[in-house]
Amino acid sequence: MIEVKQIKKRFGEHVVLDGIDLNVQNGEVVAVIGPSGSGKSTLLRCLNLLEQPEAGMIQVGNTQINAASYTKKEAHALRRESAMVFQNYNLFKNKTVLENIAASLRITKKMSKADAHKIAFDLLEQVGLSDKAQAYPVTLSGGQQQRVGIARALAVNPTALLLDEPTSALDPELVSEVLQVIRSIAKKDTTMIIVTHELAFAREVADRVIFMADGHIVEEGNARELFDNPKQERTKRFIKQLD
Ligand code: ADP
Ligand code: MG
Repeated sequence: MIEVKQIKKRFGEHVVLDGIDLNVQNGEVVAVIGPSGSGKSTLLRCLNLLEQPEAGMIQVGNTQINAASYTKKEAHALRRESAMVFQNYNLFKNKTVLENIAASLRITKKMSKADAHKIAFDLLEQVGLSDKAQAYPVTLSGGQQQRVGIARALAVNPTALLLDEPTSALDPELVSEVLQVIRSIAKKDTTMIIVTHELAFAREVADRVIFMADGHIVEEGNARELFDNPKQERTKRFIKQLD
């Protein structure tokens, strides 16, 4: 479903991704953990070309690109295979909740307003916010805004959902409602990669956990194996420190 080979990305002299290989199966939930600055966000952002890697191969769904040379058309196709959920929601402030979700359908799928609104409303029900359809984002709590962000990402029916620390900007009491929504989506066999500091959640929801440090995948394995029996010193230290 997702295949990444030898992705390299640098910012100036700083090598941020140093030859990352990654495979994600259809329906698999992969959690990416690791210290701040290890390249987790950059990896996710490279998958839909929010950042441009210098080298490597990226395949998501049926679209494959060579990072060193690709056409605009290929880039566009690759972007449409995945949808990103950001730490800070990134909702349109001047659109209602319903319009926020419908907007991408109207733009990318050229859908009629009525059709887009119907799908958007169904998604709002899934994230438990159908009563907020006409509200503006500023009137919602952070947890509610993030649930809208997730509904919006799902609207385009992506091959893969990419979540970058979806709960780290939230007040602690709002984290669980968002995790609950992510849990329910994971159960529907949505292919997803989630960068998270919530180790307990990663352990519960992820089929596989990847530990990154300094632009490398240091260790990966099924959640229980990696958390209970990490093999690398670096992984051990990281898990201990967050426990
Ligand atoms: P993580 O998500 O694991 O915390 P990031 O992928 O955000 O790490 O960042 C990895 C490294 O790349 C960090 O050292 C960060 O400062 C650097 N970096 C990220 N984005 C940029 C950018 N746009 N320009 C320059 N450096 C960046
Ligand atoms: Mg990050």
